[in-house]
Amino acid sequence: MYYTNNTSSLLLNWYEQSKRNLPWRNTKDPYKIWVSEIMLQQTQVNTVIPYYKKWVSAYPTINSLAETDSDSILKLWEGLGYYNRCLNLHKAVKIIVSNYGSSLPKNPNVFKTLPGVGEYTAAAVYSIAFSDQLPVLDGNVKRVLSRILKICRFTKYNKNRILSKLKSWIDKNNPGDFNQAMMELGSTVCLPKYPNCRMCPLKSICKGFETGRPESYPLPNKQKPIPRYLVLTGIIWKNNSFLILQRTGYRHLTNLWEFPGGKIQSNRNPKLQLTKILTKKYNLKVSIQNKIGCVNHQYSHFGINLTCFNCKVEDGSVPIGIQPYRWIKQHEINKFAFPKANHKLFDIMKDN
Ligand code: SF4
Repeated sequence: MYYTNNTSSLLLNWYEQSKRNLPWRNTKDPYKIWVSEIMLQQTQVNTVIPYYKKWVSAYPTINSLAETDSDSILKLWEGLGYYNRCLNLHKAVKIIVSNYGSSLPKNPNVFKTLPGVGEYTAAAVYSIAFSDQLPVLDGNVKRVLSRILKICRFTKYNKNRILSKLKSWIDKNNPGDFNQAMMELGSTVCLPKYPNCRMCPLKSICKGFETGRPESYPLPNKQKPIPRYLVLTGIIWKNNSFLILQRTGYRHLTNLWEFPGGKIQSNRNPKLQLTKILTKKYNLKVSIQNKIGCVNHQYSHFGINLTCFNCKVEDGSVPIGIQPYRWIKQHEINKFAFPKANHKLFDIMKDN
């Protein structure tokens, strides 16, 4: 194999020998590469693999995804988190079908304007699928380059320094492999706390390695405290069915289904508080019965402590609000996509 510069050759030779065999690395189909890149955002490779396989088997083409309803795709995405990624992908393929004849636009700058696609995704997809010479800059690549160049902070100036270095190194014959190799190096060798410099193909040019303390680059970002919320919720029964509502108009977990309820400030008198929430928010008249249990769940940006009660709806009372709702039987749970915290409640319900 002929490589276009020395840094590329060091990196690509290492990649050839060390790369993991991942399912999206066996295709040049831009749609499948796009799906993998969206799934991999803020999610571990091992978590993504089974979701990716299920997804490309259920929706092997842009057209097959565009023709599907959003409830079905959310169900397949259920548990992967960051559900806007899935909804944006769905919106974007519909635009591609109606405006671009079901193929990705020729120009990556046009692709970049589609919902959920940014600079990073466009560079990854077009370099891997079409050999466009566009360097990718994800969290792993930023860390590797910050260490090689001894950069402490990711300022705009330093971002440009990193990008121009990547542009000078990117392999003209294999830009997709070059980008994947850089990302692979960051996720398997140049690890955040313990970089394995002994195994690194780029240690001869790494200024951070020269200092003896490469892990000090870049400086860590200040972590914001993660809020924790108390939430009350009710399984509201009508005969053998219970009520679920669809989350619309939320930024988080949008379009997923959940039980009615709301946040509270303290756990004092939860039955009275739940009655008030259900009346005020949904105009529902219920009698609150036994407590089903409590679950804790940590999402990426916040945690919740969810307390749940069985409730019985009064005759003729229906939820009034903007959210779509359904009365479903317990065996129908699997037809709908729910947040992870609700799945923990289902486990408790089974034991009750
Ligand atoms: S030599 Fe060490 S710090 Fe430098 S890029 Fe390689 S693994 Fe990272």
